[in-house]
Amino acid sequence: MKPFSFRAFIRKYFFNPHWRCAACGREIFGDEYFCADCEKTLPVADGNICAHCGRKTDVPEDYCRSCKNRLTAIDKGRSAFFYEKPVSDLIMKSKYGGSIYLLDMFAEYLAAVYFKNYFSADLICYVPMTEKAERKRRYNHSKLIALKLSELTGVKVGHCLSKIKDTERQAKLTGRERAVNLAGSFRVTDKAAVRGKAVLLVDDVTTTGATAQEIGSVLKTAGAKTVYLITVASVPEVHKTQEKKDQARKNRE
Ligand SMILES: [Zn+2]
Ligand SMILES: [Zn+2]
Repeated sequence: MKPFSFRAFIRKYFFNPHWRCAACGREIFGDEYFCADCEKTLPVADGNICAHCGRKTDVPEDYCRSCKNRLTAIDKGRSAFFYEKPVSDLIMKSKYGGSIYLLDMFAEYLAAVYFKNYFSADLICYVPMTEKAERKRRYNHSKLIALKLSELTGVKVGHCLSKIKDTERQAKLTGRERAVNLAGSFRVTDKAAVRGKAVLLVDDVTTTGATAQEIGSVLKTAGAKTVYLITVASVPEVHKTQEKKDQARKNRE
């Protein structure tokens, strides 16, 4: 038995991150995550969205410019938020700043999205990291979100994917480059678990959708019937002007 530690006792029973607003740090009371002011600024993903991938669009669309012909292995994607402040900052904090308690909060928002969209999944999968990357960060944020989401929805987590190739950081790459970079990076380690199943894939952000597409493809090849995608936040639809700007930037480099 571990020796009794007063500090650990206090932390376990009395330290509650909920007592401060997750966005501005102001003291709050009750079970809320945000103060009333910040709650109003949350970029909740509703209004005009793409029916296929869930991104913010100017007008309602069946397939937006970002996902048309690109996110074919995913049957339907939804996010809790658009990737804007303060949520974008919170995601960075949960991923690189060690604020793990935020992952449970994200899972609660995702559970609401799950039920609101009538997703009916047999299995939850998460985006795996290579062993080396997970050791370095000490945790896989998508896995922790998936475990909590499983608790809240009653859908079991399948640890049936692995990442077999370390990919360089994707942030500076375009959608096409990301897809090339990711090709062959993921493997289904338990094909029997996904065969004929509706799989819910959990990730933190839908950026270009390249990761979801690559994982969706390996899941479908392994026999998954349906692959849904659920993410904490999605980057709004790419506009033509943005595509041109990206291209111009690339040409300069
Ligand atoms: Zn606040
Ligand atoms: Zn879309």
